[in-house]
Amino acid sequence: MKKLVIIFLIFTGLWQISKSTEFQLFGELISHGSRFEKVIALTFDDGPKPVYTERVLKMLADQRVKATFFVVGEELARSPHLTAEILRGGHQLGNHSYSHSRMLLKSPSFVANEIEKTDKLIRKSGFEEKIYFRPPFGKKLFTLPYYLEQKNITSVTWDVDPGSALREEASAREIADYVIDQAENGSIILLHVMFVTRKNELAAVPMIIEGLRELDYEFVTVDELLASGQ
Ligand SMILES: [Zn+2]
Repeated sequence: MKKLVIIFLIFTGLWQISKSTEFQLFGELISHGSRFEKVIALTFDDGPKPVYTERVLKMLADQRVKATFFVVGEELARSPHLTAEILRGGHQLGNHSYSHSRMLLKSPSFVANEIEKTDKLIRKSGFEEKIYFRPPFGKKLFTLPYYLEQKNITSVTWDVDPGSALREEASAREIADYVIDQAENGSIILLHVMFVTRKNELAAVPMIIEGLRELDYEFVTVDELLASGQ
């Protein structure tokens, strides 16, 4: 019986670690910037997909906001022109894997292939700055963090995630209010706007920007966010 309890505790501990946004077993993980600077990074995952990418880029351009896009290699390969659009807008690109598979219990070669193929596509698009990595579904355990540490790649998660906190039918206003309420100095905000099911999250973007600007926050890319506290 005792053995079973210990095994159970080990598994729940590993499960907690695998989904933690603040801790991984190896290498550097960042979930926010300096708490002393009034800056915020908006991050958009899972694109670039047609229509949605163009819409969010227009919203960001209209309000002169720079953001960070964690792109999926497969999507990038399908729509390289959208990545070019993102870069033309002055935004930052990050790596969000090639196939968006959960990277738990995956072989080292699978992990390396997912990250390197996507990095290559990001470089081919003309992006020359440091490439950060965001694990699909935020999941990581042994092989992924070990690989990232060996390659000196920083994981970037988030500290505000309306998609997980709110119910699926939440309105754009509710989503924006949640983000405005939860955000603090140095926050990294996770937004999903690349799917039809997330149309309210997309519609919330201008409200989020307006609300946070009223609180005197400045919008920066992840790179600028991390540089601002140093
Ligand atoms: Zn994702």
